[in-house]
Amino acid sequence: MADHPEESLDPASWDDFRAHAHRTVDELLDWLRGVRERPVWQPVPEEVRAGLRRPLPEAGAGLAASWDEFRRSVLPYPWGNVHPRFWGWVNGTGSPSGALAEFATAVLNTNAGGGHQAAPYVEEQVIDWCKAMLGFPPEASGVLVTGGSVANLVAIAAARDAFDPRISEEGVAVAAGTPVLYASAQTHSSVDKAARLLGLGQRALRSVPADAEFRIDLAALERAIAGDRAAGGRPFCVVGNAGTVNTGAIDDLAALADLCRREGLWFHVDGAFGALAALSGRLRPLVAGMERADSIAFDLHKWLYMPYDVGCVLIRDRAAHQRPFTVPASYLSREARGAAPNDHDPGSLGPELSREFRGLKVWMLLQEHGIAKYARLIEQNVAQAAYLAGLVHQHAELELLAPVPLNIVCFRYRGTGPDGPALDALNRELLIRIQERGVAVPSGTLLNGRFAIRVAIANHRSRREDFDLLVARAVELGREISAEG
Ligand SMILES: *Cc1c(COP(=O)(O)O)cnc(C)c1O
Repeated sequence: MADHPEESLDPASWDDFRAHAHRTVDELLDWLRGVRERPVWQPVPEEVRAGLRRPLPEAGAGLAASWDEFRRSVLPYPWGNVHPRFWGWVNGTGSPSGALAEFATAVLNTNAGGGHQAAPYVEEQVIDWCKAMLGFPPEASGVLVTGGSVANLVAIAAARDAFDPRISEEGVAVAAGTPVLYASAQTHSSVDKAARLLGLGQRALRSVPADAEFRIDLAALERAIAGDRAAGGRPFCVVGNAGTVNTGAIDDLAALADLCRREGLWFHVDGAFGALAALSGRLRPLVAGMERADSIAFDLHKWLYMPYDVGCVLIRDRAAHQRPFTVPASYLSREARGAAPNDHDPGSLGPELSREFRGLKVWMLLQEHGIAKYARLIEQNVAQAAYLAGLVHQHAELELLAPVPLNIVCFRYRGTGPDGPALDALNRELLIRIQERGVAVPSGTLLNGRFAIRVAIANHRSRREDFDLLVARAVELGREISAEG
């Protein structure tokens, strides 16, 4: 006999819980529907932040109290990326159906790390669709991960072990000479992280200069490879960009594919958002050559607007994909029949074992909307970027700081003074005011040493009028700051 009645985390009354859940759904959908009417972003007030530092709760306050706290301390202070005028970094918007799919995912709460259940079959289907989207062969391997960073890590791990299969056992020291990889100076920091985490070291990543359009300089790349070989280095991989994070520049991927074949190097493409240009017949030529890569990393939570988090890595050679991640473990034994079959093992495709069923939302959303709709939304964002670039170009007080090949526009307020630190400072302040006044959330970056206000459009809610507003307010605030001089 237990001293206490047995407990669980299920509600005491399912009817009360259902009523609460229905109210919550209504409230959250109202919040989402009204997003355009609110400021894009506002800072979290000090008293709210202070309220978020409390001791570990001993006794629970109950469901209603915990939701009240969410309404007070969390809901009013979002990052802003669900808003039509959020264009900072590269953030996707999510969608109402996406949220519903997340609810289904949480209710199922399955561990999608394998097993005889629907989840791995759904994810296999999703991976097959991803290959079809990017023109990759059906026999290629792939896995869903948290995002582009882990996708790059998994691909470069496969590249490293394909270069020298002894490395997983014995470490990089076993390779006679330093394994070296190459990417343009415009490459995302997750590639640097991968070089660090995989024991290659930051210095094994050669940062190759980019040209005036922020694409990798192919002649400089060839010189770097030849130089490393002459010095006893062991080139093994080139990372090409399908859409750099700064400006959306696309490396000459066909030329990189040729070069990698010639030099016997693994060709990886970081296409976090830009790879999805392949969905559009009109944009596809921009990423030609990507389909010849050994591996591609891309996100579904960016330019396919799916809920965080979900990214994908595709790897042409199945055995190469599994090599870094296949580790025997008695407690993970797989059998011919029963709940743990031996034909599905996502744990041998990446660093994760227990995994969220990320494929469910992708599968449901692709079925609901169809790929043609996503292609139109991507084209819409590219057209909006061209529209914004046109507005900037026409305005005497603004200037573009980079070409606009895709969905990213980098510009600044010219001011009246010379180019230099003062103009950078003015534009830094301008960016902050655009954000703090709740107008829009672009982010900032440095291009050739100059500070740029950067608008990256992976947002299905943006409309042309949003860009008109941004330009009008940027000029107004630019004048305001100049006048304060
Ligand atoms: C966002 C991004 C990444 C990293 O992807 P996460 O999903 O944030 O991990 C890598 N490369 C590029 C070009 C990106 O834009």
